[in-house]
Amino acid sequence: MRVTQRFAAHNYDPLPVVLSSGEGSWVTDVEGRRYLDCLAGYSALNFGHCHPRLVARATEQLQRLTLTSRAFFNDQLPVFAEALTRLTGKEMMLPMNSGAEAVETALKVSRKWGYEVKGVEPGRATIITMGGNFHGRTTTIVSFSDDAAATGGYAPFTPGFRRVAFGDVDAVAAAMDDTVVAVLFEPVQGEAGVVLPPEGYLSELRELCSRRNVLMVADEIQSGLARAGTTFACDHEAVVPDVYVLGKALGGGLYPVSAIAADRDILDVITPGSHGSTFGGNPLAAAIGAEVVQMLQEGCFQERSIEMGRRLSAGLSGLVGHGISALRVRGAWVGLDIDPALMTGRQLCLALMADGVLAKETHGSTVRFAPPLVASDDDIDLLVDAIHRGLDGGTGYPAGRVA
Ligand SMILES: *Cc1c(COP(=O)(O)O)cnc(C)c1O
Repeated sequence: MRVTQRFAAHNYDPLPVVLSSGEGSWVTDVEGRRYLDCLAGYSALNFGHCHPRLVARATEQLQRLTLTSRAFFNDQLPVFAEALTRLTGKEMMLPMNSGAEAVETALKVSRKWGYEVKGVEPGRATIITMGGNFHGRTTTIVSFSDDAAATGGYAPFTPGFRRVAFGDVDAVAAAMDDTVVAVLFEPVQGEAGVVLPPEGYLSELRELCSRRNVLMVADEIQSGLARAGTTFACDHEAVVPDVYVLGKALGGGLYPVSAIAADRDILDVITPGSHGSTFGGNPLAAAIGAEVVQMLQEGCFQERSIEMGRRLSAGLSGLVGHGISALRVRGAWVGLDIDPALMTGRQLCLALMADGVLAKETHGSTVRFAPPLVASDDDIDLLVDAIHRGLDGGTGYPAGRVA
């Protein structure tokens, strides 16, 4: 910890635990203590740590071919691209690496589509975004963030964005004019604390975007790929956005893999030289991404996510009014607001850590739980018990669980 803090910039405030191995939903620290990982790499680890099937596929590809650049074709990208279009129901995809890059790609595509297809006056394209959003950390993306910590000191910002309240379709309608090319939103706001929009919001937003000829761009980087109980969180209202933005679990927790998926009439605005990435679509990333998509199509991660959510709801709902002021659950994804008079999110996370459960506070008194979708019922019960004990203020355990 000391060396990390000395030589690596302090852009995070980690819990005081040093991890050295992981398997499924469990991780082990350098002293041999085990913890149930209920952050799961901000949902990048939906399939758990070192999933054997993903490790096997990645290892095989590592020994064969890892990088070609897009200057040449490789034999893995077509497999991934076709699989991802099948999963999303879209005609094309564009591969990148990090989530922020995929969001940037969606913004660029939306603007170009606005000028070339919709006919917006040059330089005037506007994108509507949501209050409380989190879409990554690039200069353009933080330009439409309302989180002071994310924006402070980084001005000047990129123009062309208009922010409205999340969950209020009338606010989106009021912000619409002929310059609007896209609405960028998270179907469930993860970083904000697993904030769910009101029922009907996604379908109303879909209807509004279609009526105004505006692209509906769903950032499913954290909410997608079975986390919210369905392949995509938009499936909750059977809504199909124009653009899916994917990342995190798309790389199986092994490697950064992101992409956007959309139909040809949208992605055709991208021409050689107009956008790119040295690593995007590399054969190693594509091999892992294709395996992830196959697992989502064959597996029962979506079903398991719903079961886990039911178990978490049943175990935690009694706490509302008794230590927590609000509980939000969608699939295996929980946002819990602690009564601020009781303790902070950080304090609960430290108590949980001492009890062998890792989670991270998001804003002040909110904690998000996103256990890997390979966690067992016993794991979920352990998490529920640990939350009860943590809110009670005492843990009977030293740090972690002795292996
Ligand atoms: C994590 C996240 C991103 C950014 O992904 P990075 O890989 O960290 O760049 C964007 N949008 C959402 C919704 C996210 O949760």
